[in-house]
Amino acid sequence: KKNLLIFGTRPEAIKMAPLVNQFLADKRFETKVCVTGQHREMLDQVLSFFDITPDFDLCLMKPNQNLYNLTGEVISGLKPILESFNPDYVFVHGDTTTTMAASIAGFYSGAKVCHVEAGLRTHNMLSPFPEEMNRQVASRVATYHFAPTIKSKENLLGENISEENILITGNTVIDALLESSNRVGDLDNEDVKEIKSKVNVDKKIILVTGHRRENHGQGFINICAALKEIAVNNPDVEIVYPVHLNPNVLKPVNELLGAISNIHLVKPLSYPSFVWLMNQSYLIITDSGGVQEEAPSLGKPVLVMRDTTERPEAVEAGTVILVGTDRAKIVSETQALLDDAKKYQSMSSLHNPYGDGKACKRIIEFISNLE
Ligand code: UDP
Repeated sequence: KKNLLIFGTRPEAIKMAPLVNQFLADKRFETKVCVTGQHREMLDQVLSFFDITPDFDLCLMKPNQNLYNLTGEVISGLKPILESFNPDYVFVHGDTTTTMAASIAGFYSGAKVCHVEAGLRTHNMLSPFPEEMNRQVASRVATYHFAPTIKSKENLLGENISEENILITGNTVIDALLESSNRVGDLDNEDVKEIKSKVNVDKKIILVTGHRRENHGQGFINICAALKEIAVNNPDVEIVYPVHLNPNVLKPVNELLGAISNIHLVKPLSYPSFVWLMNQSYLIITDSGGVQEEAPSLGKPVLVMRDTTERPEAVEAGTVILVGTDRAKIVSETQALLDDAKKYQSMSSLHNPYGDGKACKRIIEFISNLE
């Protein structure tokens, strides 16, 4: 059986890396990897940590890349690869433009499309942001759906996808996290040295990340105002913010937060360095999907800077609180977690609803049992 795994951004790479490596180690399969390069630097950091050399690289990241070009170039770039390798299974992950376009290309090739992290939904197809459309298109063209949770399976059943083609696996990000945690205990690389030179790691650290299109513009202005207020009100707290390379994020963040002594803006960290920093931190403020799935496994409470979520399990489990991009709410919920030890304790000791680190094993078992 021949597998082609296709991905292009940092989060997809992290969540596909353990699947790639476990497939490559399994001699029942011939497995190849294609990256689109939707992200470049951040993708390459992940490939290098997980020791993955792609067989094909579409190198699609360009200045001012837009969704029209990217979608077209992923589909046409994959054509010769799909025709020459002729895979039985094409694996895509999540909800990016790469996911959507690669799932369509896989469908055109006649391969069975397998969607990893399937069934997440906001149910808002009218949203101007592409993620919900991307994941719904992938669900329409995929044959097999690897759902991280019961809720995501139920979403798929509600769209008339037949139950025998859905498998609940947990999220592969936990596989990646557990695999890396063993390797980051006393990490001492350049990132860690740089952080230690700027940040007093014995103080309470608030780790911040943010990148979503829906927060570009006013959202990031509010987020920065909130972080500034938190920093000024709590001089004993260190805020560390690895800033995403998207210019819509980089520019306002550098302008608004560049000159505050206990806010440390750093470059995006390699995955092991980021896992190390999550471990060091007291609390995490983010709009990232992956980070809110990882953090409960490390016992870290998360404030999520979004109004809606396709990850309600975390909210229901109590491991995350949705704070939107409302300045006052970000400030008050952060202050509560800094001041209220009981609240902090109860939030940081909850079970992670996203899995046990065996998602990839389940996926491989499922594929190997197919005719
Ligand atoms: N991450 C990383 N370095 C950083 C920030 C995040 O390696 O500086 C990792 C993080 O551990 C998580 C993933 O990147 O696994 C999340 O990516 P992102 O927030 O860009 O995307 P999302 O999860 O929202 O799709």
